[in-house]
Amino acid sequence: MAGTLPKALLFAVGEKQCLRGDINCHLKLITVPVTVVLGLIAAPERLRVVPRNPRQMTFCFGQVQNLGCGTCTLVTGGKRGSSRGGSACDRGTLNNEGHVTLRAGARKHQIRTYYHVLFQAWGPQHWWPAQSRFEVVVGAYLTQNTAWTNVEKALANLRSAHLLSLKGVRRASLTELERLIRPAGYFRQKAKRLKIFVAFLDRHYEGSLAKLFARPTEKFREELLNLHGIGPETADSILLYAGNHPVFVVDAYTRRMLARHEILPEKAAYEEIRELFEGALAPLAQSVADSGEAGNQPLAAGFAGAAHPPSAMSTTKRTALAQVYNEMHGLIVGVGKNYCRKSQARCDECPLKKFLPHSH
Ligand code: SF4
Repeated sequence: MAGTLPKALLFAVGEKQCLRGDINCHLKLITVPVTVVLGLIAAPERLRVVPRNPRQMTFCFGQVQNLGCGTCTLVTGGKRGSSRGGSACDRGTLNNEGHVTLRAGARKHQIRTYYHVLFQAWGPQHWWPAQSRFEVVVGAYLTQNTAWTNVEKALANLRSAHLLSLKGVRRASLTELERLIRPAGYFRQKAKRLKIFVAFLDRHYEGSLAKLFARPTEKFREELLNLHGIGPETADSILLYAGNHPVFVVDAYTRRMLARHEILPEKAAYEEIRELFEGALAPLAQSVADSGEAGNQPLAAGFAGAAHPPSAMSTTKRTALAQVYNEMHGLIVGVGKNYCRKSQARCDECPLKKFLPHSH
């Protein structure tokens, strides 16, 4: 750190004198108060970067905060114990309590980094585990408010009754449907909703999923959201995993990870989270296209994360953008299922541990 000091410049900004220097923030210029400058010049050895534990920085003039990207540290103004603070660099702001608010660009950068780290650790996840588009639709309804293991039991019941198809659900009585999907919970509600979906398809698309999935993404999404019992997560699961439309699916795992990493609060609006991920991941689509990752990839590391065996749906040809959204959701499920649990976060074993903010 001391080696960066000769590059420091002292100059005036309005009435307030500030220092600008490349203080280990991705070599970007950041601004710190003049008191910090004077302190650094007087005793540069007192500024120590301890990226993993700010509590060890007893002798620092400024706080050092890892902004979560794993490489960037930000030095902020204020002697320890003074009231000065609230500094900012181009990646975020840090208030007096040491809480970081990342700027939009930094959040997106962080999401992309998570994608790379998780994909490198676990490889392709092969979501969604289904043999047909209709099976994805049924699974998307059944997984509402329940664990996937329960959904699997309900799907197995439908399969062995030869009713896991559009025709099957159309001809099954409501009572029969309820009985078969009972393991998935809320079975009366879900059976009714499945019947409503099939009736909607019959009425507006001549019973053809192909016609429905050929709709432009936004129109399709709107129609799904207008159906009884379909919220944004179910709609987007159908769009992405059954229709290969490029829409990111936000689930509870996504919210938990974002909140624990202080990227967005757990109660952030669905659309805000979706936009963040879509904006962050879109630039990766070209590299996915170039690497041929868009479907049909073998399992690189066995069943790591939340990987499934390749299925007819997971290996369907899709656009690189849809593939990136598909993969990222599967990777986040892997994080949530294995490490980032509601009651207990197993950070020590999680591949995202190094990005955890210091406050955790
Ligand atoms: S388990 Fe810990 S490190 Fe992993 S995503 Fe959750 S909070 Fe982050």
